Amino acid sequence: MLEEQGSLSSPLSLSDSQHVLQPSPERAVPAAARSPGSPRPPVPGSGIGRSRPLCKGEFHKLADAKIFLSDCLACDSCVTAEEGLQVSQQNVKDFFRVLNLNKKCDPSQHKVLAVSVCPQSLPYFAAKFRLSVTDASRRLCGFLKSLGVHYVFDTTIAADFSILESQKEFVRRYQQHSEEEPALPMLTSACPGWVRYAERVLGHPVTPHLCTAKSPQQIMGSLVKDYFARRQNLSPDKIFHVIVAPCYDKKLEALREDFPTAPHGFRGADCVLTSAEEGVTRPHAERASRSEAPGDGSFGGLKEEEVRRHDGASSDGYLAHVFRHAAKQLFDEDVGEVTYRTLRNKDFQEVTLEKNGEVLLRFAAAYGFRNIQNVVLKLKKGRFPYHFVEVLACAGGCLNGRGQAQTEDGCADKALLRQMEGIYADIPVRPPENSAHVQELYQEWLDGADSPRAQEALHTKYQGPGLPALSRDIKW
Ligand code: SF4
Repeated sequence: MLEEQGSLSSPLSLSDSQHVLQPSPERAVPAAARSPGSPRPPVPGSGIGRSRPLCKGEFHKLADAKIFLSDCLACDSCVTAEEGLQVSQQNVKDFFRVLNLNKKCDPSQHKVLAVSVCPQSLPYFAAKFRLSVTDASRRLCGFLKSLGVHYVFDTTIAADFSILESQKEFVRRYQQHSEEEPALPMLTSACPGWVRYAERVLGHPVTPHLCTAKSPQQIMGSLVKDYFARRQNLSPDKIFHVIVAPCYDKKLEALREDFPTAPHGFRGADCVLTSAEEGVTRPHAERASRSEAPGDGSFGGLKEEEVRRHDGASSDGYLAHVFRHAAKQLFDEDVGEVTYRTLRNKDFQEVTLEKNGEVLLRFAAAYGFRNIQNVVLKLKKGRFPYHFVEVLACAGGCLNGRGQAQTEDGCADKALLRQMEGIYADIPVRPPENSAHVQELYQEWLDGADSPRAQEALHTKYQGPGLPALSRDIKW
């Protein structure tokens, strides 16, 4: 098995950075965790804005321009040595270590193995191996179960919770917003590359604008280690939970300090594997073993035969869902098709709700480093025209995550990406409000949608207002 050495959500390229970053003369490369000359910890790579890892020459160009890797989003400069080690340990070897332990005689060492697959990973398998998305799902599930995995889940249900909580939070923030206590704009929090950048680099005043709804991965961790564990009469530490995801940033997300789900205190995801890691993609390459099986999609014994997705181009569609919900709740307006207007480029788009010539809601989607920097600059200058921004680290959204759709030399595989976008667009859409199972889980798992338990399980906290950004001195 290969040990993956990829990269986190892509940092900036020189051309991206020059027009937005004013280098700070006193800045030093913040490799606080490393002594001079010591090797970098073995960190898989990352991603906002560029399509391949920086080579040595490019790094020197950046250094010449007094722009350091610490300016990047989720680059390995904000990853401590300990985090780097823990990220690098989340690999296929670890997965097989647990599978092999389960084959040994000592039952005290055995674990229940659960794998949760992100919906953005399936188009990769389907495109790469010329399968329908349903066949790709069944083939992956069959392979994992033939290895000894006990349960295979779909993280779409966790995204349902995350979207529903984001919708409610936006309406609450809109109603609370005032000059004295600005609760808007609300910035999405589902992308770990962006959230890490906001917390570690930007800090206040950006973090109070992050939506507090947990990401789909975090909620999936709670569902598996809390709800599912209790249903199965298992201690959470008896479950080894693996997530299959489109990017390396989700490996870092698995280490978030508040990720352990109260009250049991165990980490929600034990290991994150990207779609392209060898042990995940191999079932499709091995044509000989064509075992297929349905997933265990909804925790209630129901088998999800059909793959479903959320609205939006490739990333669970927070903007579209929150927009429709807010239009109805705040202005009693029914929005059918959401119309996007492209601004500077295809990764920076705007959606407005207008009535009698007045703009009632103004939302934006900002994907990739350059667009995020422009959004942050506007926010810092206090000239912010948007009520809500869907922020994603990867240009093009999650299908373009650096854990998939890459050529062997680390460049974006544009032809494969186009195929994946077509496949994803053809997956039937199911709004989260239409999931009866989510409503049941609100009652059965969380004592109701507005209970303190729901707040605890589905929301998180960020670096508090008033605290300085962690060891960063970016001056824009
Ligand atoms: S945009 Fe999606 S794939 Fe890219 S870093 Fe964020 S969560 Fe990962």
